[in-house]
Amino acid sequence: MATAQKSKVETEKMGENLVVTQPKLERMLSMKGGKGETSYLKNSQAQARHARAALHFLEASLSAMNLPLPEDGTFAVADLGCSCGTNTLFLMGIIVEHVSKMYAALGHDSPEFQVFFSDLPSNDFNVLFQLLPPQLSSSSLEQCLTAAEEQRSYYAAGVPGSFYGRLFPSRSINVFNSTFSLQWLSQVPAMVTDKRSPAYNRGRVFVHGASADTVAAYKQQFQSDLASFLRARAVEMKVDGVMFLVCLGRTSIDPTDQGGAGFLFGAHFQDAWNDLVEEASTHSHRGLLDSEKRDSFNIPVYAACLREFEEVVQAEGSLSINMLQVVKGGSPLVINHPEDASEVGRALANSCLSVAGGLVEAHIGERLSEELFRRLELRAARHARELMEQMQFFHIVASLSPSLSS
Ligand code: SAH
Repeated sequence: MATAQKSKVETEKMGENLVVTQPKLERMLSMKGGKGETSYLKNSQAQARHARAALHFLEASLSAMNLPLPEDGTFAVADLGCSCGTNTLFLMGIIVEHVSKMYAALGHDSPEFQVFFSDLPSNDFNVLFQLLPPQLSSSSLEQCLTAAEEQRSYYAAGVPGSFYGRLFPSRSINVFNSTFSLQWLSQVPAMVTDKRSPAYNRGRVFVHGASADTVAAYKQQFQSDLASFLRARAVEMKVDGVMFLVCLGRTSIDPTDQGGAGFLFGAHFQDAWNDLVEEASTHSHRGLLDSEKRDSFNIPVYAACLREFEEVVQAEGSLSINMLQVVKGGSPLVINHPEDASEVGRALANSCLSVAGGLVEAHIGERLSEELFRRLELRAARHARELMEQMQFFHIVASLSPSLSS
C-alpha cells in the first residue's frame, strides 16, 4: 500500500545530516481493517470466545462497584483498544445492561450512558461506527434489557489516541474495559534494534526464545508501559470507578517462553522470516530479504506472568487489586475441520496477518509481506496437528480500583 510504504521511515534534515528516525509505532499499529477474509473483524472469533468465558469476572467486578446516584450525571464507560470488530460492541452492551440491572435492583432509574470507543488513530473507526446498532430512542429499563445486541441504549463516541497517555479528563470515567490489547507495547524497546547493544535481537523477530539481554529490554518496556497506563487511568477514573482488564499472559515464570504468543510470533512466523532470508531470489544469489532487515523487525508484544503484572500495579500504587488471575483462554484458532491441515494453516496465517500484517507490510512492503504470509501458511499447515494440540492462550484477568490513599 502506497501510504504504508511512504510512512516507512521519516526523514528530516538536521543541518547537513540526513537523520533517519524510526516511525512511531502508534502511527503504524492497527489491526487489519475492513471486512475482508484477513480483517480483524473476520479473525477475532477466538477473542470473542475468550472474552465470553471471562464474563463472570467482568460482571463480578461491576457488581462490587459503589454506584453513583443516577442524578449525579452521565455514567461513562470506555473501551481501550476497542479495534474495529463486534467484540467491543458485545462487551459494551453487556456492561451497560449489567449496570442498568444494578440500578434497577436499588429501585433507581438508569442514568444516561456514554460509551467511548478508544484505539490508536490508525484503527478502522469507520467499520466500527458502521457496525454500531441503532440507538434506542428512550432508555427505560425494560427497553435497555431487551435491546440486546440489535439496539444500543448508550451514546457512542470514538476517542483516538494511545492508552499509554492521557485520553480523558480527570475523574470522568466510571468503568474502563480493555480486552486483548495491553500486551501490545508502546514501542519495540530501542536497544533491541540497536546493533551495538547487547540486547540486539539478532536472528529473531520476537522476544520468545531470545537472549537474556533482549528479554530484559522487553520486560523493562512492559513495566514502564504498564505503569504509564495505570497512572493515566488512575487520574481519569472516578473515585468509585472500576477497571477490568484482560490481556495475553503466560504461565511460565521464564519470559523467553511466551506461551501462546510464542506459538503465534516465535515459531512458524519466525521460520517464515528465515525462509525469506535463506531462499535465493531467481534474479540473484542473494536472499529475498537481507538478514539485517529481518533483525530490525520485532513484534512489540510481551505476555507477562502474573507476578510481573502484580509487581507493576503495586509499585505504581495508585490502583489497588480487587482480583487478579491467570486463566486458560484456549486456542486462538477457530477451525471448522480440525483434520484439514490447509484450513489450520490458513487460519494461523490469517490470524497472524490480521494483527501484525500492517507492521510487517510497513517494514518490508506489500510484495514480500505476501511471500512471508504464504510461507507461514504452508509451514503452519505442515504442523497443523501440533498447532491444534498445543497452541493455547492464557490471559491475565484483573479488576482494579483507585487506591483509597491516592
Ligand atoms: N478489544 C478488542 C480488540 C483487541 S486487538 C477485542 O477484544 O477483540 C488489540 C487492539 O489494541 C488493537 O485494535 C490495537 O490497535 C490496540 N492497541 C494496541 N496498542 C495500543 C495503544 N498503545 N493505545 C491504544 N490502543 C492500542
